[in-house]
Amino acid sequence: MEEEVDSVTFKDLGIIEELCLACKQLGWKAPTAIQKEAIPIALKGKDIIGLAETGSGKTGAFGLPVLQALIERPQRLFALVLTPTRELAFQIKEQFDALGKAIGVACVVIVGGMDMNQQAMDLGKRPHIIVATPGRLVDHLEKTKGFTLKALKYLVMDEADRILNMDFEVEVDKILKVIPRDRCTMLFSATMTSKVNKLQRAHLKDPVKVEVSSKYQTVSKLKQHMIFIPCKHKHIYLVYILNEIGNQSVIIFCGTQQSTLKTALMLRNLGFTAIPLYGKMTQNKRLGALNKFKMKERSILLATDVASRGLDIPCVDYVINFDVPMHSKDYIHRVGRTARAGRAGQAITFVSQYEVEVYQRIEQLLGVTLDVYPTVKEEALVLEERVEEASRFAKMEMARLEEKSGKKGKRKRGNDEDDTEESFGVRKRIGKKKFKKKGGRNTK
Ligand code: AMP
Repeated sequence: MEEEVDSVTFKDLGIIEELCLACKQLGWKAPTAIQKEAIPIALKGKDIIGLAETGSGKTGAFGLPVLQALIERPQRLFALVLTPTRELAFQIKEQFDALGKAIGVACVVIVGGMDMNQQAMDLGKRPHIIVATPGRLVDHLEKTKGFTLKALKYLVMDEADRILNMDFEVEVDKILKVIPRDRCTMLFSATMTSKVNKLQRAHLKDPVKVEVSSKYQTVSKLKQHMIFIPCKHKHIYLVYILNEIGNQSVIIFCGTQQSTLKTALMLRNLGFTAIPLYGKMTQNKRLGALNKFKMKERSILLATDVASRGLDIPCVDYVINFDVPMHSKDYIHRVGRTARAGRAGQAITFVSQYEVEVYQRIEQLLGVTLDVYPTVKEEALVLEERVEEASRFAKMEMARLEEKSGKKGKRKRGNDEDDTEESFGVRKRIGKKKFKKKGGRNTK
C-alpha cells in the first residue's frame, strides 16, 4: 500500500478525534490515496463505487466513515459488510475491531463453515457491524428467530465485482430485499467488470465513483517475471527456484485442489515447510493454515484462488503462479498478495506449452511483456530424479489420505490437513538435507 507523502491528515478529511487516534495507534500516519478520495465523500453520506487496487487501504476507506457515522448515531445492527470469502471477512473484522476498540464497537463475522448456533447467539447480542459471506447470512435471515436487518444504515460490498456476479446472485438478491432502501451503499473492488454495471440491483443512489489507480494496474514495487517450461518439468523448476530464492515467504498458486495438495506434499517430502490452503478444507483448518504462514511457522503457502483475493498477509516476498490463472483478473489478485504496504515483491508465472494462450491474455490485460525469469536449465534438471521421487511419495500419500478419509466416512477431504502435517515419515526416506532451503540467500 502506497503511503502518500503530502501532508493531508485524517483530520483534514473530516475524521473525528477518537478515530484519528485509532489510526495513529495502528501506525497509519497519513491517509492512503483511496482513503483521501473516498472518506470525504462517504462522510457526506453519499453512495460510493470505489475502484482500488489490492492493499490500497480500502478497508479503512469504508471502515472509518462507517464507524464515524455509527458514533454520531449509535445503533445496533448498523452496518453490513458483504465479502466473497471467509478469510476476507475475518480480516475486515480485525480492522473494525482495531479501529473501533476505544469506542466499544461490537462486530461479528457470519460465514459458512462455522457453528450456526454460536453465530445465532452472537447475532442475538445485536452487534453494531456484521461482516458476512452472503450464503450464511441468508441462512440466518431465514432461520434465526428475531434476526432482521430492517434498521440497517450502511451496506458495504467488498470485492464487489465478485459479490455481484452469478455465484452470489440469489443470495444477494434475498439480502437486498430485506434491507431498507434508504441507506448508504459502498461498493469496493480491485477490479470492476461490466458486471458491476449490474449494480443498479444494489439500488445505489447517485453514486460517486472514486478511482485511484488505472484499471488493472499492479503496484509499482512488484517485479514480474514469467518462465516458459514444459508441463512435465514444472515441479523441477519449482524446487530449483525455491532453492534459489532461499528462506523467503512464498505463496504458490495452483489451478486445482489436487495439485495444491500434491505440490505441498511433494515440497514437504523435500524438506520445505509448505502448507496447503484450499476451499474444501474446513474453516478452522483454513484459518489455521493461514495463521501458520502469517506467523512464519511455514514459509510456503500453497493455495488455490480461494486465497488470491483480498487477503492481507504482510511480508509475502514471492508469488509463484505454478499454473497460469484461467481468468486474467485473477492474476492481478494473486500477485497482489505480494508487494503490499509499500514493500517490494516478486511474481513468477510458470507457463507451459498448454497455457500460452491464456498467458498471452494476461499480458494483454497488463499491457506489458514480462521478462523471462533467469534459470540455468542444467542446474534445474539435476534435480529431476529427486523431485520425481518426492512426487511419487506425494501421490502415495494422497492415495493413503483418500483411503483414510473414505474409511472415516463422514470426514471430509479438507480435514486431512492435520494428517498432511503429521505423516511425513516418507520425507526422511528420501533425504531432505540436500533440498533444505538456503537460509536467507536470495539470488535476485
Ligand atoms: P486493505 O487494502 O484494506 O486490505 O489494507 C492493506 C493494509 O494497509 C492493511 O494492513 C491496513 O492495516 C494497512 N493500512 C490501511 N490504511 C493505512 C494507512 N493510512 N497507513 C498505513 N497503513 C494502512
